[in-house]
Amino acid sequence: MSGKPKLSMYWATACGGCEISLVNIHEKVLDVDANFEFMFCPCLLDTKKKDIEAMPDKGIAITLFNGAIRTEENEEMARLLRKKSRVLIAYGSCSYEGCIPGLSNLHSREDHFKTIYLDNPTVDNPSGVVPTPETAVPEGTLRIPSFYERVKTLSDVVDADYFIPGCPPEPHQVWNVIEAVVQGRQLPPAGSVIGAGASAVCEECERKKEDKKIKKFYRTYEMIPDREKCLLEQGIVCMGIATRSGCGALCPKVNMPCTGCYGPPEGVLDQGAKMIAALGSIIDIGDVKGLSEEEIAKRADAVISSIPDPAGTFYKYSLPGSILKGRIS
Ligand code: SF4
Ligand code: SF4
Repeated sequence: MSGKPKLSMYWATACGGCEISLVNIHEKVLDVDANFEFMFCPCLLDTKKKDIEAMPDKGIAITLFNGAIRTEENEEMARLLRKKSRVLIAYGSCSYEGCIPGLSNLHSREDHFKTIYLDNPTVDNPSGVVPTPETAVPEGTLRIPSFYERVKTLSDVVDADYFIPGCPPEPHQVWNVIEAVVQGRQLPPAGSVIGAGASAVCEECERKKEDKKIKKFYRTYEMIPDREKCLLEQGIVCMGIATRSGCGALCPKVNMPCTGCYGPPEGVLDQGAKMIAALGSIIDIGDVKGLSEEEIAKRADAVISSIPDPAGTFYKYSLPGSILKGRIS
């Protein structure tokens, strides 16, 4: 073991993209190696859980925790790494807000098991076996981590010191954070979002905005948008208005709408609610003079119904971290 501060990275319910984002800082990864002992990362290193348990409390300088909390094991590792780390960072959208795994909060655990283990046409399961935390076998009891009813964020189960948004975080933003630590610069107060801006993606997007109203929404395959004009004003649901800046408006730059991966801007509690409110102010339902409330609602519904998947569009990355947290049954 070296005398360098220890750096760890853990994946809970995650896809591995966050690990790639760390490698994406390219040659600067050598600076990470020069300044830290990278000692725990199940994707890259063979350090065992018992090695972490044997460490003194707060023995790890920084842990980058990516992935949402879906299982008992995810929560156990979050608690262990909280205890062993001086700074615990929720790294990436899954850990910060639940992200894509969090959309499963629109359905129950029972629904998931039915779809995956019983109704799936590629599964041969005549006895209808679904996972249970404990299974008795002649040799004893087999135990696996329980699968939670709902996906949670890291800060739902432990106190996280900082949050780095993104799906995955952008390499230049990751480097900004690592560089600040390496140079001993003071980090913002605990609980802050770091490695991102504070305003909305629209602020850093160079497309022309003309305050145009929308009569209908389009999916990306239905049109080739004008490359100069605001996508939202062309009827493509672009989440830039309800999304934290910091990526450099990457998606609009390549003629694709922002889908919201940096989470809500500073001061916004619920990204989806912010987007719905913004859409309310740009929908054009024509002249409503003399129309009954019912007719007005009908026209508004006709425009809104052209958005195919409202929950998956407005809460793609943030459902567990939102006010609703999931489907209310
Ligand atoms: S809504 Fe999208 S395209 Fe329009 S300005 Fe904002 S980020 Fe750019
Ligand atoms: S434009 Fe939106 S979806 Fe694309 S990287 Fe930036 S925050 Fe994420």
